[in-house]
Amino acid sequence: MTPQEKLHSWFLLNQRDLPFRKKKQAYSIWVSEVMLQQTRVAAMLPLYENFMTRFPTLEDLARSTEEEVLSAWKGLGYYTRARNVRKAAIYLVQNFNGSFPKNLEEVLKIPGIGPYTARAILSIAYDLPHAVLDGNVKRVLSRLFVYEKNILGSSADKELQVLADKFLNLKFPGDHNQAMMELGATVCLPENPKCLLCPLQSDCRGLAENLLDKIPLRIKDEKKLKLVGHFLWWEKGDEILLIQEKRPRFLKGMFVLPYYFEGELPSEEYQSAETIQNLSNRKSLTKLSKSFSHTITHHKFQFWIHRESLSEKEADHLVSVMRKEVECKWVKKENLENEFPSSLAAKVKKIIS
Ligand code: SF4
Repeated sequence: MTPQEKLHSWFLLNQRDLPFRKKKQAYSIWVSEVMLQQTRVAAMLPLYENFMTRFPTLEDLARSTEEEVLSAWKGLGYYTRARNVRKAAIYLVQNFNGSFPKNLEEVLKIPGIGPYTARAILSIAYDLPHAVLDGNVKRVLSRLFVYEKNILGSSADKELQVLADKFLNLKFPGDHNQAMMELGATVCLPENPKCLLCPLQSDCRGLAENLLDKIPLRIKDEKKLKLVGHFLWWEKGDEILLIQEKRPRFLKGMFVLPYYFEGELPSEEYQSAETIQNLSNRKSLTKLSKSFSHTITHHKFQFWIHRESLSEKEADHLVSVMRKEVECKWVKKENLENEFPSSLAAKVKKIIS
């Protein structure tokens, strides 16, 4: 038996009898998942039953007033979630005739639905192959595959999602996701995991390597990663050069002012295109005397700006060299913030002007 098969058999025998699991219905799974994000199962069950009696269908919820929904949500707290649930129901009625879309990207556009809830709904209601990642699943995965890094760190979710996707049981994705959450909630406990009762006992590397007291590593106040970056301001008359890179760590898919980070980088993702790095050595680029700081999730940057005015010929040459690796476009300086819609653009412009 594969580990996934063992887990599935264990789940079929041990799953709790929960009302929202009885019918594979996206609406009830969604409501239960939102409620479970803030409340334990036992406390949530009566509130869930009341809510579903009051709003048995998505259409009933969409027709309700905000006051009615808030009153049915009483006892659960986090009232923004209640408001979002109602907004989402209205959105689904208006855009999808009251049903849930089956495509992850479409589900992620629904107000208030994040990656975890989207994946849970699609896998449990429709058996689509999307692995979920919540606190319980992260703990099980990190022990099973010896993920020794901080599970609260900036790269953890991305790396653990890769493990979760690889480990997903493609035959029964919905059951598999529930089994992982259930295993984390009832067997693979934060303290004193009950490994003797675990269906994955013989597959668990953390147990075999005696690492359970170290994994998962949870460091809450992880220090911000400090990096020094450089923006390159190449201007031609009243235009400024923006580029689009294929593999950036930040500002994905945007046209941005060319930039690179100096020194030792945490991973390849932080590395800008080689052309940019090479061209940053141009003697005619002048480093401005003022820098600015900027914070993006767990990162604190200090950015310097280098400026060069180019003739038409120099600009053509520069772009022809860059185009081998990145997309380029010239934009009017006054349109910079529209073309590069980030507060970074405004900060650079403030120093330049
Ligand atoms: Fe968790 Fe123990 Fe099972 Fe490993 S063997 S997954 S540590 S309960």
